[in-house]
Amino acid sequence: MSAIIAVMNHKGGVGKTTTTLNMASAFAAGAKSVLIIDMDPQSNAATGLGLDAKSISKGSYELVLGDAKIPDVALETDLPNVSLIPATFQLAALSSVSPDEEDPEFWLRESLQEDATEYDYILIDCPPSFGILSLNALVAAQKVIVPVQSESFAIAGLQQMEKSINDIRLEAEHDLDFRILMTLSDQNQKLHKLVNQEVRAHFKEQVFETSIPVEPKIAESAFLGRPVVVHSPNVRGAQSYVRACAECMQWIEGGERLSHQQAIVN
Ligand code: ADP
Ligand code: MG
Repeated sequence: MSAIIAVMNHKGGVGKTTTTLNMASAFAAGAKSVLIIDMDPQSNAATGLGLDAKSISKGSYELVLGDAKIPDVALETDLPNVSLIPATFQLAALSSVSPDEEDPEFWLRESLQEDATEYDYILIDCPPSFGILSLNALVAAQKVIVPVQSESFAIAGLQQMEKSINDIRLEAEHDLDFRILMTLSDQNQKLHKLVNQEVRAHFKEQVFETSIPVEPKIAESAFLGRPVVVHSPNVRGAQSYVRACAECMQWIEGGERLSHQQAIVN
């Protein structure tokens, strides 16, 4: 069975797509087969993998509606072991789904359950809102990675996220589990350091030990259509994503939490 992970935060620009693409690349480097599902109508996952989003005519919209199966809409990418179900602009129409529809937040889960998949990991990139698209991702997933930028009000935003995740856990009757990943972190900035400490004090082991630093190569490689883990594997930002991926694997497999040093060795 695939491990299904949603990458979600209701804020934009916090590193959701970057985390999705780099985690996927790091999983794939460990010979795991990975499917990325883009649930954000901005289609950034395709662009970040060097695909021309404008030339793509079908994807997650058809999958969610049950009009296509995974193999009909999954694209091969330049990265071995990484496939992508892209987002198209039609996906935005789902945001205004009719209130008469029964349980529309369950559609993606149903599509994934119907389709037996050969993937080890399915990563779902969410849009920056709590709407129906993110709800579909959260209902389908077993785990949620919440990328968080070290800024004021981080805790308040996270408490809101935690409440939404708890509501979905009850509604969808599943054991949805979340972890926070501190992103765009600059430890030379006092505010970042304080927020990082505050989030860790509050959410404890629900925070990845690894933080992702501000790394110019991350933005540069995204612009060139290659995740930094593949484009510049030796820079600090890439190595942080590899460490976060090792922690994530451990979390999914349900083993003991690795210490930071063990995560690096592994
Ligand atoms: P989201 O999906 O949450 O909207 P993105 O992953 O698209 O956020 O990131 C927003 C922007 O910040 C992108 O231009 C991306 O390349 C850049 N970015 C993300 N993470 C980092 C980082 N750690 N260091 C530098 N730039 C980053
Ligand atoms: Mg995004």
